[in-house]
Amino acid sequence: MTAPVTDNAVLKLLNVESAYGPIKAIRGVSLQVRRGEIATVLGSNGAGKTTILKTISGIIDPRKGSIEFKGENITAQDPALIVQRGLMHVPEGREVFPLLSVRDNLLMGAYTRKDRDGVARDMELVFNYFPILRERAAQDAGLLSGGQQQMLAISRALMANPDLILLDEPSLGLSPKLTKEIFEIVVRINRERGTTILLVEQNANMALNASDYGYVLENGRIVMEDTCARLREKDDIKEFYLGMKEAGVRADRRWKKKKNWR
Ligand code: ATP
Repeated sequence: MTAPVTDNAVLKLLNVESAYGPIKAIRGVSLQVRRGEIATVLGSNGAGKTTILKTISGIIDPRKGSIEFKGENITAQDPALIVQRGLMHVPEGREVFPLLSVRDNLLMGAYTRKDRDGVARDMELVFNYFPILRERAAQDAGLLSGGQQQMLAISRALMANPDLILLDEPSLGLSPKLTKEIFEIVVRINRERGTTILLVEQNANMALNASDYGYVLENGRIVMEDTCARLREKDDIKEFYLGMKEAGVRADRRWKKKKNWR
């Protein structure tokens, strides 16, 4: 019998602040990701989304605050140790190894694992999610299209059989059709495998539809959080994240005037 779950947060950030020299990119960021959910951080260009993910995965050391993963403090730990604990980061812009084959890229994702059978099973599993990767398995990853490279980057993370995947802007540079396809598979991975995901996105529509819980980040601070079902109904979100084009200049003016998220 498993112990009663009193706190199902797999990831907790408390008052995290990170900076690039004198530029404070995130300030006092506190958030939680619960086991089995897709959480999202929405924010416009430069809001600090990527910085949050880099700080979690140990690429940037925070100036203040703490980060807990599966109940252990991972603040400013070596990124390789954080990977070993079961946290994988799919960076913005994919960053696959272009001169390695698709298959070898996938095996790189599994480098910490000793269970060969499990690795073979997971390779089969990612080929089922993204059949094009099976077709291209022997080709250099650099020859894949942008969308296929995104599929490979997500699959490489899955090959580690992680507890948590940090997914940075998967829609970047992709057509709406491909973005939709990739989001559908991300949701399937979450539902079918129970993989917890923290997704950062500028594409608020996609992110809010795919995720369970959302945080809105503005100028490095969390200004709102709620279930995505409730966020989708909020006027500010509708106007400034989901309907900007329709609302046009008037909305932009109101936005500048209002800015009262709470
Ligand atoms: P985008 O969607 O454009 O990637 P973002 O929300 O991910 O934006 P970050 O990349 O986290 O935002 O950037 C947050 C702030 O930190 C921005 O003001 C950005 O200009 C600044 N910044 C990011 N990287 C660096 C860096 N290497 N050196 C200096 N400033 C940086």
